[in-house]
Amino acid sequence: MKSFAYVDAANEQEAIAALGTQRGRILPIAGGMDLVGLMKDYVAQPDRVVNVKRLDRTIAATPDGGLRIGAAATLIELVEHAGAARAYPALVQAAAEVGTPQIRHAGTVGGNVAQRPRCWYFRNEEFQCLKKGGPRCFAVDGENQLHAIFGDGPCHIVHASSLAVPILAYGGTFRVAGPSGERDVAAADFFQMPDENLMGENVLRPNELVTHVTLPPPGRVRSATCEIRFKQSHDWPLALATAILTMSGETVRGARIVMGAVAPVPWRAQAAEAALTGQAVTEATAGAAADAAVRDAKPMSGNAYKVQIARTAVKRAILKAAGLPTV
Ligand SMILES: Cc1cc2nc3c(=O)[nH]c(=O)nc-3n(C[C@H](O)[C@H](O)[C@H](O)COP(=O)(O)OP(=O)(O)OC[C@H]3O[C@@H](n4cnc5c(N)ncnc54)[C@H](O)[C@@H]3O)c2cc1C
Ligand code: SF4
Repeated sequence: MKSFAYVDAANEQEAIAALGTQRGRILPIAGGMDLVGLMKDYVAQPDRVVNVKRLDRTIAATPDGGLRIGAAATLIELVEHAGAARAYPALVQAAAEVGTPQIRHAGTVGGNVAQRPRCWYFRNEEFQCLKKGGPRCFAVDGENQLHAIFGDGPCHIVHASSLAVPILAYGGTFRVAGPSGERDVAAADFFQMPDENLMGENVLRPNELVTHVTLPPPGRVRSATCEIRFKQSHDWPLALATAILTMSGETVRGARIVMGAVAPVPWRAQAAEAALTGQAVTEATAGAAADAAVRDAKPMSGNAYKVQIARTAVKRAILKAAGLPTV
């Protein structure tokens, strides 16, 4: 690992003041679950890291009945928060599936949504791919089993954050703070496709931090997240999906369905939402919505199998949200 300076910021203001404008030179570090690995592999080589674990970590109801989560809250604090579990089960289910108990105790909500891609070419210092300023994406003709099945490149990563999926589905907002003040960015505008931002995955400038995630009042919805992994122990999902259903009796009046691990950003499945709206949830209607969710998938040479896995994640998330058996 390259040597680096460490700034132990006491609060948000100190952390922002210690960041800089040059991409990659000064980086925030929270739990370090992602960043330390990147530094050990010489993929990230910051001159300085700034401890952001003393940003706000409270998880509290907002006056309008929503939820505000401090970026420094750990994943386990989110999992164990009774109010979050009651009102936003799809978020807590996603957090509970992340990594291992150790990772959930150290990893933070802010670090989770800002974590870098897991693409093995990106993580290997020998490969200067497009995302690192090189000439091409090695996944196109290479090992792309875990890459995107949606989006047209030019980089084919899948977004690594499980929390990003329910945050988008619930209509969440990120509070972003930097030297010129703060702004609220809707999750739908926060994550960016490679053709908008090849070097990063979101709208954060190098001297900005995520300080909070705010979720609007959930309303009378049923929601769930379903994740499918290669192995049951610590692993990232092959696909996951969050389904949020607004019901009128037994009929779905509105739906929000978002898939994860299938595209460079959390991927909203509007065709599935339309297919489900006006229907009662049954295995057949959930399956039809799941078919619609993956209809426009464009798998790469080695990952066509992910289309069926994403379809299954969507179907199970819908059934789980409706309180029906998933198998
Ligand atoms: C074996 C393993 C399995 C895993 N499985 C999953 C999984 O299934 N799903 C999943 O989502 N994740 C998974 N992870 C990733 C893990 O959840 C994240 O690495 C962790 O949540 C990151 O949080 P952190 O606080 O440790 O972030 P750090 O490693 O400290 O930071 C991560 C990145 O975010 C930046 N950053 C940190 N805080 C902020 C902030 N407040 N504002 C702006 N930028 C910030 C850092 O500069 C860095 O680039 C897994 C990790 C491992 C090692
Ligand atoms: S998918 Fe993106 S990160 Fe991976 S090799 Fe291609 S350009 Fe690089």
